[in-house]
Amino acid sequence: MKQKILIIYAGGTIGMQASENGYVPVAGFEQQVRQQLSTDSARQLPVFEMLELDQLIDSSNLQPRHWTELARIIEAYWQQYDGFVLLHGTDTMAYTASMLSFMLQGMDKPVIVTGSQIPLAELRNDALDNLITSLMLAGGYDIPEVCICFNGRLLRGNRASKLKSTSLDAFDSPNYGHLGQVGINIELHTERLLESKPLLFNIPEFNPDAVVVLPVYPGLSARVARDLLNHNSVKGIVLHTYGAGNPPDANTELMVLLEQAVQRGITIVNVTQCVQGQVSQGAYATGATLNRIGVIPGSDLTLEAAFAKLHYLIATEPQDKMSQLMSQSLCGEMTE
Ligand code: ASP
Repeated sequence: MKQKILIIYAGGTIGMQASENGYVPVAGFEQQVRQQLSTDSARQLPVFEMLELDQLIDSSNLQPRHWTELARIIEAYWQQYDGFVLLHGTDTMAYTASMLSFMLQGMDKPVIVTGSQIPLAELRNDALDNLITSLMLAGGYDIPEVCICFNGRLLRGNRASKLKSTSLDAFDSPNYGHLGQVGINIELHTERLLESKPLLFNIPEFNPDAVVVLPVYPGLSARVARDLLNHNSVKGIVLHTYGAGNPPDANTELMVLLEQAVQRGITIVNVTQCVQGQVSQGAYATGATLNRIGVIPGSDLTLEAAFAKLHYLIATEPQDKMSQLMSQSLCGEMTE
């Protein structure tokens, strides 16, 4: 039996067209896709239907409410399709893929997120290849995960980051092996895939102000950080530190500010600014300060996954479970 896939177009370069102000998303992408795939060999593809969001966005305008909207669409159509391909802008693709992985934790079919660096409307593009490969993976393989498929790489969604702004191999997952490679053949590393699980979706609404990111940098002052952290609606902070998870702990005013935030019940998770490797909070005395304060070490979570996980847990779990859940891998997002 031929598999049936739902393609959801949310915006992003893949379906954009040139305007006087640069590329913008344009409605009616399905027509372009069908036209491109009207060749005989396209019969090798699974059957697909397409759904386009009413408001297409450049994904740099992504808001947490879009995650709820996208997950609800996937949930509503879950039983009718064998897999899903989400066409999304690359700028925040790793945030959305991470969040979907938390909201759709019970999965028995693929959700493949893809997009492109060059629109399908351009003669030379990476859009067609990314789309075709994603459709083939979604329709022909048992992949019970939210993945990013880009430039011949199949990556776990919550391990991926956009690392390159102009190359076609824009995405990688530096802390987790590729789930698959697509060259002449499609090679899947099935041993790296999550196990298929019975349906369990948890799709909350988000308070966009609940989570903030505080990057450390030379000169960061408590004065500047205070405005960000002392906002009433902030419930979680991703602390983006140096190297093995080191903050400027000689800034005692800043450390006291963080400590007070933890005491007020705010969850702080520590992730590294390094692209590869993990936080080892306490390897240095600077990092050990964070242990004393009660900051949770974020292991090898990407910034995107840490941000999404914190939002997800704040929206779905009681405060007293945050520390335990933040420290354990929910769907392959971190090394425990
Ligand atoms: N700015 C675009 C977006 O994220 C970039 C892309 O899709 O490649 O929507």
